[in-house]
Amino acid sequence: MSLVVIGSVAFDGIETPFGKVDRIIGGSGTYISFSASYFTKNVKLVGVVGDDFPKESIKALEERGVNTEGLQIKQGEKSFFWQGKYHLDLNSRDTLVTELNVLADFDPIIPESYQDCEYLILGNLTPQIQKTVIERLKKRPKLIVMDTMNFWMEIALDDLKAVLKMVDVLSVNDEEARQLSGEHSLVKAAKKILEMGPKFLIIKKGEHGALLFHKNEVFFAPALPLEEVFDPTGAGDTFAGGFIGHIAKTGDISFENMKRALIYGSAMASFCVGKFGPEALYTLTDAQVQERVQEFIDLVQFEIELV
Ligand code: AMP
Repeated sequence: MSLVVIGSVAFDGIETPFGKVDRIIGGSGTYISFSASYFTKNVKLVGVVGDDFPKESIKALEERGVNTEGLQIKQGEKSFFWQGKYHLDLNSRDTLVTELNVLADFDPIIPESYQDCEYLILGNLTPQIQKTVIERLKKRPKLIVMDTMNFWMEIALDDLKAVLKMVDVLSVNDEEARQLSGEHSLVKAAKKILEMGPKFLIIKKGEHGALLFHKNEVFFAPALPLEEVFDPTGAGDTFAGGFIGHIAKTGDISFENMKRALIYGSAMASFCVGKFGPEALYTLTDAQVQERVQEFIDLVQFEIELV
């Protein structure tokens, strides 16, 4: 069994109230892979970069056990570049630049060794490419999780809706859920989105946690109140990596286990925001991850006697 990750592998320019970096490695595929690597050693990445992408960053992924056979390196071409600026509250941001570069005509090649894929996560990327990856897997994975963003809703909504019909879980933030459904209430938005295809819907709410919807049920996972948040970039992807990582590790795709996966995802995201870029995800220990999960348990556990 393996967990196949597809997503952008990128350079990011980031401005937060605490600092600015012009060019740092990022991308949905990068964050998801690092995060999932803490749960399973069978993470296989599909993506594309230009020859400007640092070899040491690919090595850092491999050192975490991530298989990069499906990461194409295009000679003479430039990697995907995204630039964003966060508002003061860090919960919202503006995209300033999106340069697709190698992503514009990316043809995802699935190595034969990836065909044992049991869990597939389609990180934020062109919906058409997400669809191609599903179609190129000879056997439908046990669980397909998809992430996306407003950018694709604006320029490729029909393609995005076509992929939605093929996936089991969709992960978006609150703003994106509202945009996709046309509903302000997240409960109404969830109902509409669940009618579009996925059986499960995760709505991320930044520092206000995340909701998991399934049929008429809903579960809430808080975000850990942190003293210092430097850069929320990649938090959503890191969350998704922890979520699918826990599911791949346990092999259990029930709603009950997804609740636990939501907590693991939230725990991983809480590490990501402490530093610029994915650096905080290079050298965590299993003990640190477990301790963080315990903090989540302590945060929400209380006793109450109903009279
Ligand atoms: P997150 O903060 O979890 O939403 O993810 C941020 C990451 O998404 C950054 O590292 C970007 O490189 C990547 N990203 C931003 N826009 C896009 C896009 N349109 N397609 C693919 N990846 C993107």
